[in-house]
Amino acid sequence: MAQLSAMDVYNLLPKANCGACGCKTCMEFATKLVNREAKPEDCPKLDDESLEKLQELLAPPVKELTIGEGDREVTVGGDEVMFRHELSFFNPPPVFVTVYDDMEEDEIAGKTEEIQEFQVERVGEVLKLDGVAVVSRTGDPEKYARAVEIAVERSEDLAVALITTDPKVMEAGLDVFDERPLLYPATEENVEDLAKLAADGDCPLGLHARDVEDLVPLVVEAQQYTDDLLLDPGTEFGPHDVVSTTDKLAEIRKAAIEEFESFGYPTLVTTFPYAFLEDDPVKAARRESYLASACVLRYADILIMDTVEPWALLPVLTQRQCVYTDPREPQEVEPGLYRIGDPDENSPVLVTTNFTLTYHCVAGDLESADIDCWLLVIDTGGLAVDVSVAGGQFTGEAVKEVIEETDIEDKVEHRVLVIPGKAAAVKGDVEDATGWDVMIGTQDSSELPEFLEKEGLLRIEE
Ligand code: SF4
Repeated sequence: MAQLSAMDVYNLLPKANCGACGCKTCMEFATKLVNREAKPEDCPKLDDESLEKLQELLAPPVKELTIGEGDREVTVGGDEVMFRHELSFFNPPPVFVTVYDDMEEDEIAGKTEEIQEFQVERVGEVLKLDGVAVVSRTGDPEKYARAVEIAVERSEDLAVALITTDPKVMEAGLDVFDERPLLYPATEENVEDLAKLAADGDCPLGLHARDVEDLVPLVVEAQQYTDDLLLDPGTEFGPHDVVSTTDKLAEIRKAAIEEFESFGYPTLVTTFPYAFLEDDPVKAARRESYLASACVLRYADILIMDTVEPWALLPVLTQRQCVYTDPREPQEVEPGLYRIGDPDENSPVLVTTNFTLTYHCVAGDLESADIDCWLLVIDTGGLAVDVSVAGGQFTGEAVKEVIEETDIEDKVEHRVLVIPGKAAAVKGDVEDATGWDVMIGTQDSSELPEFLEKEGLLRIEE
């Protein structure tokens, strides 16, 4: 897709510079639209025709669509670049986890609750699973309907995917839950029936083929009924799973960006079949974890997994969190003074930078060891310790500034600072600028609790 310029967008705006959209000028608004920081609907002066033209012009090559409604809604797709640094990636791929209609009812309930309750905090953000996928293995519409009923009852805000090739079974699932579930898989054999069901129920439809080119006729047929499609080019299992699967996904993304209309939809990846292909459940979860993590990088828009093992899900969710941060935004926390635990006048004072990951690692390691201390966070513009030392942001003056702004000198009776091990080079500079005694801490924040204890710094009485 040719790079859209702010001028292309500006030409379609009213040019009234009225400020009603929150921008001082229409050109500022046009720039925000190109950067996807605003939506055309934010300009109340646009007439219907111009609004429609703008929406068309700004539509990303990978269609953005929703699965579910209300609290159960997730958004997928919407990307327009191959590489994150070219703009940003949008809409982190939701992770669905499967339950099966041949499981005992209490097993379905238990696994759904695990999916619902799974959460882990990382870098100040809670990472969660997004959906439950109910798979028919019995082919029995009644059993399937009951499985869907349990999965919906035992979840609160999970999106739902209905997985069966049999249109009758799919209908039974839709009778129980019709809040825009994802219907999958539409194949050569059933695409017409499932596309009609998707159109009638206003549901997104996942197409499945064995290879990229085999998707084209499926897309053409499904488009006669619905345009809310997702593309599964066939996950490869076995020794070459990662390379073969991600190559297919990259081919689709590239074609979408080059405006090959049939591929302008989000992609769907299933790793759950590993649960049946591998005898050893640990090995199955490990393979799912590798494959799903790789597909988060290249270019899955939704993942359907079987495992609920935290060790297998964490790499996937962590990868997703990293890749789907906006590279145009510095990842930083507010500089200043942070209380860790219940510090007092004899508690140690540690220094770190305001790079989000650095701050949360240091604070998390201290908190989990029940250390009471003061954490001085200096403004390095969101850079990590080693980078900011090299770049001249981590300096004695920067530390002095945060000491003065936070009145830490009124809060503690001692004058001892612990700086990160990676900032050892600026020890003298910090001492000269602040007049405090400076101790060099550890290279890794996980070693800080032991270091503070060993050096007798848990209580500093001078
Ligand atoms: S509301 Fe519309 S007309 Fe007014 S400044 Fe914004 S873009 Fe221009």
